[in-house]
Amino acid sequence: MTSPAPAVAPGVRRLQVPNPYFEGQNNVYLLEGEPLTLIDAGINTPLSLAALESGLHSLGYAPEELEQIVLTHKHLDHFGLARSLQECSGARVYIHQADWDEVTHFEATHAQVTRRYRAFLAEWGVPAELIGSLAFLRKDYSRLARSVAAKPLSDGQHLQLSQGELIVIHTPGHTCGSACFQCDRLLFSGDHLLPNYTPNIGATDMESGQLLSQYLGSLEKIRRLRGIELVLPGHGEPISDIAARISAIEAHHRERSGKILEILTGGRPQTVYQIALQLFGQLRDHHVLLGCGEVWAHLEALIEGGQVEQATSDPGRYLAGRK
Ligand SMILES: [Zn+2]
Ligand SMILES: [Zn+2]
Repeated sequence: MTSPAPAVAPGVRRLQVPNPYFEGQNNVYLLEGEPLTLIDAGINTPLSLAALESGLHSLGYAPEELEQIVLTHKHLDHFGLARSLQECSGARVYIHQADWDEVTHFEATHAQVTRRYRAFLAEWGVPAELIGSLAFLRKDYSRLARSVAAKPLSDGQHLQLSQGELIVIHTPGHTCGSACFQCDRLLFSGDHLLPNYTPNIGATDMESGQLLSQYLGSLEKIRRLRGIELVLPGHGEPISDIAARISAIEAHHRERSGKILEILTGGRPQTVYQIALQLFGQLRDHHVLLGCGEVWAHLEALIEGGQVEQATSDPGRYLAGRK
């Protein structure tokens, strides 16, 4: 039997759910009391479901007792199991309204989303044979989540818990509907704030434009919150120094923009993919999308600031501007 998950704060348990596809492991938080609440749900695989069930059992709960599941965003590894948990428990599920459509109509929208990814990858100069080989664009990935009936959340909304109120803070950037949830001195940050690496920007919802400045605006929003003592992220260990973590992420983005400008200064105009190869080395599978999306998010900001231009001879290539 699994040993009971330790409390990360009074009445809050962290259940670690395996996720072999994306980032190794997801944190799912159990908020004890009434209503019995989960923050996020893990990816839809038998192994993840078993881990979540045994984690709940070790604390003396059954999945059937769950009353509420609050999702931080629409990525498969965060909402994938919500439907299975809802089926056995009848739990209410919530997600921010901007991520609501893909989670409630996952099967119908998944094909459109992967088509959009293909179009962006082609526009970014990724070779056709590489796009053809990417496993995450294949149909079997659509099994990693299931549509779930959910209620849409909006910024500033409050959900009542035994521990106090859970306040919805809309933090677009990683996805358009990413949200953090504040409960007194705790902040559940999903993938908006992570301890060990900078959250990916640009590989989801790229059509919405200027994701990097949306993300940096959302970081500022979190920085201004009063009284947060502990951040509980979607992956990795809790973050106690929120200001230092925010500053480190901002510094990382400034440095990355500087590197991209350096790459584009002096030489021939380059595609998003060529820039990504110089920044990250050879890219494999979904890292092709993550790497190119990240470059694209930076390029959009640099173009807006006049520091980068599209080559007149080829709109898929970029060069340093004259500013
Ligand atoms: Zn995510
Ligand atoms: Zn994640």
